[in-house]
Amino acid sequence: MTARYGVMGNPIAHSLSPQIHQAFAKETRRELHYEKILVEPGNFSRQVKDFFMMGGQGLNITLPFKEEAYVLAQLKTPRCEQAKAANTLWKKDGVLYADNTDGIGLIRDLTRHIDLSNQRILILGAGGAARGIIGPLVDASIASLSIMNRTSERALALQKDFPMIQCLKADFMAAPSALNRCPADRPLSFDVVINATSIASHQSVWDWLIPIQFHQAFCYDLSYTRDGVTPFVEWVLHQGGQAIDGLGMLVEQAAEAFFIWHGVFPNTAAVLSSLR
Ligand code: NAP
Repeated sequence: MTARYGVMGNPIAHSLSPQIHQAFAKETRRELHYEKILVEPGNFSRQVKDFFMMGGQGLNITLPFKEEAYVLAQLKTPRCEQAKAANTLWKKDGVLYADNTDGIGLIRDLTRHIDLSNQRILILGAGGAARGIIGPLVDASIASLSIMNRTSERALALQKDFPMIQCLKADFMAAPSALNRCPADRPLSFDVVINATSIASHQSVWDWLIPIQFHQAFCYDLSYTRDGVTPFVEWVLHQGGQAIDGLGMLVEQAAEAFFIWHGVFPNTAAVLSSLR
């Protein structure tokens, strides 16, 4: 029987994971079935249990379930423990294991473009993806790491788990047009800005970032697209900055999950160039 894998999330229709894992499987000469699984809120743990009970071998987890996946797993790798969020699950001898490959995926792609040592880094967002990338960034000899998030409680919870990070106040105000603004009276300067929010709008929703001096920073968007540019990349380019999207990270984090499940590391460069 063909081995069964999948990715769970909500939304999930846009996911490129099936295409990436099928390409890895072809290149490493193995057969697998990899599907997208939509999870309705409140159903995550039941759907994970059903998947493995029906013979599933491995699952990738995407937003907004990474923190729930961490709680559900019985045994976690050290980097997953550190993140308290999981994007890769598998079962062995009846035990549900979890790992987080987002951080290593980001580092592998980001360091193709920039040397991270002594860099002042800002992460926008404090969700599951932010949790996964903080530990590996801190280990990369950076100068400092700051976080800005819409909901301050979530940013402070992150700071509790990672005391070395600094939480910056983002004054999101409910303006009539739902714009989120940060006071522009104090310019903020960083070497690298990483967008780990799930904001999908191309419009002025990004105006809360105006105090950040984008023309001085290298920007990385965890979101990705195969057509044109992502909303964040578009916004940064409009500010005169430099930015790339997270397609490379997507392929690298998938390769790490593939390695966990199959014990072989696929050729990521070939898959990335075919996706582009
Ligand atoms: P998540 O856990 O749902 O977190 C979403 C984050 O976005 C939270 O910080 C949330 O702030 C913020 N946010 C959402 N809407 C916002 C708005 N309108 N204004 C301001 N902030 C807003 O999602 P996640 O798992 O961290 O994923 C985040 C993004 O990273 C997604 O786009 C995902 O596709 C991408 N990602 C890419 C890769 C890759 O390999 N390239 C890997 C992982 C994730 P609050 O805390 O205030 O709600």
